[in-house]
Amino acid sequence: MERGAVYNAIRRELAQDRMNAERAARERREKAYADNPRLSEVASDLAKACLSAAKLVASGNEKDAKKTMRLADDLRTERDALLKAAGLNGDYFEAAYKCGVCKDVGYVDGRKCRCFVQRLVRRFYSAANIGDIIEAENFSTFDLRYYDDAPVYENGKTPQSAIQDILGRCLDFTDNFDVKFQNLLFYGDTGLGKTFLCNCIAKRMIDAGKTVLYVTAPRIFKKIEELRFNRDNMEAPDDQLDMIYSADLLIIDDLGSEFSTILTSAELFNVINGRLLEKKPSVISTNLSLNDLQSVYSDRIVSRLFGAYSMLRFFGDDIRLKKKYAAPKAR
Ligand SMILES: [Zn+2]
Repeated sequence: MERGAVYNAIRRELAQDRMNAERAARERREKAYADNPRLSEVASDLAKACLSAAKLVASGNEKDAKKTMRLADDLRTERDALLKAAGLNGDYFEAAYKCGVCKDVGYVDGRKCRCFVQRLVRRFYSAANIGDIIEAENFSTFDLRYYDDAPVYENGKTPQSAIQDILGRCLDFTDNFDVKFQNLLFYGDTGLGKTFLCNCIAKRMIDAGKTVLYVTAPRIFKKIEELRFNRDNMEAPDDQLDMIYSADLLIIDDLGSEFSTILTSAELFNVINGRLLEKKPSVISTNLSLNDLQSVYSDRIVSRLFGAYSMLRFFGDDIRLKKKYAAPKAR
């Protein structure tokens, strides 16, 4: 599919969302008017008063214009009182757009809104619906109690104190995203919450209006390969490739689970290095140990990772089993 077709599909999607939001607002208004006829009258009088005030101003009739504006003020006061009495707030009749920035138009000042870019990201890269996952896995549902507070490991930390430190680093990463350039690498055994924390970070940054590209390692490499060698059958290949480098945040989950070749190794270097040069933050998670990383990937990749990423080690017992079989211990 050509780029134009992809863009058109997203524009249609936006138009649909916009229409839905506006229809819902209209329905709320109609219902409130039906329940409260005086509210309906006041609203209609207010609209008329505003219109005639504008006309009077235009025709230079200042005295009557002022009078009409005072009337409009009174009507507005009455409307607000009626709304308040009905337990409705001021924006009850406003359309609740998905994107407050562009009101689901997709463009701001002739440029793609970040919500448009995020829709492109979702279209090209999301296998699973990340929206559903991050509703369940986010900072407010992250539970330290699944991590043991003993035994103490050689670094003087328990699994729980270690994860507490890591959580602090993740919050520092998201809270200071715009002012502090940071990259994180989560490593350690499976089932210790690495993917969960990737989801927490993704949600926090999407909520903050950033474009987030979240992919597993196998998927990103497969994608890059297709984009290089099968361009003609891809939707907007240049946009897709560009996204990997230009997304505000790139999260690569499960590095090391991909089928590794000389080619993937070169691509990984390009991605990591390219984003470092552009000062675009990334988060990588891997089940490999640091030793494994060094044996699987080239020196230049490993040196970039060690130089520019905070290496955060996860350890302890698999918490997925605990979640499955036991409720967390009370504090
Ligand atoms: Zn927008």
